[in-house]
Amino acid sequence: MNLVLMGLPGAGKGTQAAKIIEDYAIPHISTGDMFRAAIKDQTPLGQEAKSYMDKGELVPDEVTIGIVRERLAKEDCANGFLLDGFPRTVKQADALEALLADLNKQIDHVIHIGVNPEKLVPRLTGRRICPTCGATYHVIYNPPKVEGVCDIDGSALVQREDDQEETVRRRLEVNVAQAQPLIDFYAEKGYLRNLDGDRPINEVYSDVQALLGGQ
Ligand SMILES: [Zn+2]
Repeated sequence: MNLVLMGLPGAGKGTQAAKIIEDYAIPHISTGDMFRAAIKDQTPLGQEAKSYMDKGELVPDEVTIGIVRERLAKEDCANGFLLDGFPRTVKQADALEALLADLNKQIDHVIHIGVNPEKLVPRLTGRRICPTCGATYHVIYNPPKVEGVCDIDGSALVQREDDQEETVRRRLEVNVAQAQPLIDFYAEKGYLRNLDGDRPINEVYSDVQALLGGQ
């Protein structure tokens, strides 16, 4: 079962991915893990990727696609895989189609966990950090005992600039705009499965199971 998982940050992709790989025994292939493994194993492509990252530059598509290809050709992908964080662009999606055809594989489903971006704002802006000890809290999911105060040392908690509402909204807008061409691409190919992500985790996962077949 060859799967691509899509969704905005905060849409619950990580949770669904963890359940899918456990129940369907396929590897979870995220771009970050793939890069880290290639660099650690010092493959030629890994070394090339590292040279760009060390300079603070974006890794070019050819290198990324080469690393994806190496990963998908591995034994543990024989029965399928769950790609997460790749592809990001239509160009990468095209390249993925070509490399899968080379490997005699094809995508079965692109699972898109759709959420109302407005509902993600409280989740994505809730993080608070202690400037003294570095402890992290979340106003909804992991609040300190006293609002705004570190449990450990009593320091006033701060919100990182990255987590501020305006920044979060801007990032979401960019993500939505970037994802749309990819969603259209996969809809046209007939791979796209839209799931309503604005529901409890287990309800979303029931839809995943209905799609993939219960196991
Ligand atoms: Zn603290």
